[in-house]
Amino acid sequence: MFSMQDAAALRERWEAVRRRLADAVRAAGRAEEEVTLVAVSKLHPVESMACLAAWGQVDFGENYVQEARAKQGALSGNPECVAMRWHCIGHVQSRKARDVAGRFALIHSLDSLKLAVGLEKHLESSGTRQPVLIQVNIGGEVRKSGAAVEELPALAEGVMGLPHLELQGLMCLPPIFDDGPAARPHFARLRGLRDDLERRLGCTLPHLSMGMSGDFEEAVAEGATLVRIGTDIFGPRPARHMN
Ligand SMILES: *Cc1c(COP(=O)(O)O)cnc(C)c1O
Repeated sequence: MFSMQDAAALRERWEAVRRRLADAVRAAGRAEEEVTLVAVSKLHPVESMACLAAWGQVDFGENYVQEARAKQGALSGNPECVAMRWHCIGHVQSRKARDVAGRFALIHSLDSLKLAVGLEKHLESSGTRQPVLIQVNIGGEVRKSGAAVEELPALAEGVMGLPHLELQGLMCLPPIFDDGPAARPHFARLRGLRDDLERRLGCTLPHLSMGMSGDFEEAVAEGATLVRIGTDIFGPRPARHMN
C-alpha cells in the first residue's frame, strides 16, 4: 500500500538527496549537469516510482530483469512516466541477454564478453545501438560480479569491436559499504582505470557509475557521473521474494 504519508516522506527524502548531491557536486568544483542521480527502485513499488517521475526524477535503476520488465509494462501507459530512463544495474546472466538488449537506456553491469556477444546478437536483428558500461570488480572479491581488473583491457577491446554496443565507461561497487572515506580509494582507482583505457584504446569513456547511499559524496569527489541511490530515497528495501 502506498499512502499520502508515504508520498510525503518519499518527497522529503528525495529532496534531501538532491540537496546533498548538489552540495557534493559544488564542493568538487563540478557542474550540476555532470552528475546524474539514478534512483535505485529495486523491490520498491511502481506507485513510488510514478510519484518520483511526476516530480521530475528521470533516471531509475533496477537490478532484476523480470522485475524491471514488469514495471516497464505497468508504467508504460502512465503519461507522467514517458520521460523515464531505465538503467540496468544488476548482474545479467548471458542467457538473459535477449531480455535486456534494447530495453534499457544504459546497461551498467556488462561484465563478460559472452554477455556482450549475446547482446550484440539480439541488437543486430533490431538494428538498435545499446549504450553500456563495464562493471569492474574493483576489490577483486571472489563472490562479486564484475570483470577482473586484469581482464578489463581485453574485454573493453572486445566490446568496442561489436558494432551495436556503445561503450561509455565503467561501473563499480566497492568492497566496503556505508563508509565513504574507506570507499574513496576504490573510486579513485576506477577513474584511473578509465583514464588508462581511454589512452590505450584512443576513445572517450565519459561515464563513471559509482556511489550509493552510503558513499556518493566521495564518489562525486572522485569524478562519478552517475550515482545510484536507493535507500536514501526510498527508505529500507522490502525483502526479496523469489518466485
Ligand atoms: C541496490 C543497489 C544500489 C543502491 O544501494 P543503496 O545503498 O540502497 O543506495 C546501487 N547500486 C547497485 C548495483 C545496487 O544493487
